[in-house]
Amino acid sequence: MILKFLGTHNAESKNTRLVSFLIDDVLAVDAGSLVSELTFTQQRKIKAILLSHGHYDHIKAVPTFAFNNSDRITKILATPKTLEILSSHLINGVVYPEFNSEASFLRKATIKLVPLEPLKPRTIQGYKVVAVPVSHPLDGVGFEITSADGKTLFYTGDTGPGLSSAWAAISPQLMIVDATWPNRLATTARAASHLCPQMLMDELIEFRRIKGYLPKIAVIHMSPQHEPLIKRELAEIARSLRISIDIPREGNELIL
Ligand SMILES: [Zn+2]
Ligand SMILES: [Zn+2]
Repeated sequence: MILKFLGTHNAESKNTRLVSFLIDDVLAVDAGSLVSELTFTQQRKIKAILLSHGHYDHIKAVPTFAFNNSDRITKILATPKTLEILSSHLINGVVYPEFNSEASFLRKATIKLVPLEPLKPRTIQGYKVVAVPVSHPLDGVGFEITSADGKTLFYTGDTGPGLSSAWAAISPQLMIVDATWPNRLATTARAASHLCPQMLMDELIEFRRIKGYLPKIAVIHMSPQHEPLIKRELAEIARSLRISIDIPREGNELIL
């Protein structure tokens, strides 16, 4: 399984992009920067897009991707709530054409919205995908994704603390997690349902208690203004848990 990180931040700028990553070039997870970081040829390889929830930083590129790739149908898989947000706010015939119906100027659907039921495994492009509820508004889910050769990752999507039931449902070798703000903004993180490094450590200790091991960790959705401090705090928790924590940047690849 080759992961390519397109966007690893919660704020967009010339140097930072919104969350999105590719699995083996064919499966996209979240769509914050799905078009801005890929050539048209690379976009053409994508067969399906998983969306963790309906916040704009995760669904932003869906309409532009649909516009760029109108010669075929791409599957968009998400919970019914996320699909409803997408159709009512972005591809609604006002802001962008209704790419999922024949009502658009294209006279054909170019994306297919596929609802995912939480905790019900589904095979997508040869990967087993399970949407796992996490602690975030708008029915936020994370995804456990397993390749045909048995590699498993879990992406939390945006999440706040309280992940015990999610941990019980998964057994990944790699976990891609949210750590948006530094410890001194823990109250803000809690209010917005995100994690800071200390909260992540508590969640990982709980994971180890439930599952008996810790997977590899990669942290994304970082706030660029606070990045140096978050990195120092993550280094401390890595030391105290005796694990390594990866902090991928835009363009980085990770092989599982
Ligand atoms: Zn969110
Ligand atoms: Zn977000």
